[in-house]
Amino acid sequence: MMTTMPYRCRMCGRAGEAAYDDEFVVKAEYWKELLHCDRCGDFKERFLFLRERTSNVAIAFWAYQTTNRLDTELENRLREKLVRLTRQIVEATCRHWRVMAEWSPDFVQMIVEQPRRAEFIVNFYAKGVRKDSPLLLQIADAQTEKQNAL
Ligand SMILES: [Zn+2]
Repeated sequence: MMTTMPYRCRMCGRAGEAAYDDEFVVKAEYWKELLHCDRCGDFKERFLFLRERTSNVAIAFWAYQTTNRLDTELENRLREKLVRLTRQIVEATCRHWRVMAEWSPDFVQMIVEQPRRAEFIVNFYAKGVRKDSPLLLQIADAQTEKQNAL
């Protein structure tokens, strides 16, 4: 039988309702914890795609560098790719979390200085944006109001 259940998106905290077939979903309470809203789902997919591409370019940079094959032309080409990708990451992340987008060349610099940590650097950036998101602040406010009302 199809059942609906209220849940909160694990990324942005927005309340939603999930439909599931209770014949197949036994531990709905656990499952509920893993759900995210469509908006966050789309963002996550795009973010992971961009993060992987960034990481691949960074690894290539590192591989050329450690084998002394990184000439100026190649370096410029890889840096340009990283500029494009990090700009896309900034844009997607800031649009999702409704924060003013501000790209800085430091983003690329950090990656070329520690190319093998590119994934970590991208995650760290995204966490910082999320922390300042008005979406999360609204939820925090709503929760405080709810607590005060109790
Ligand atoms: Zn969400």
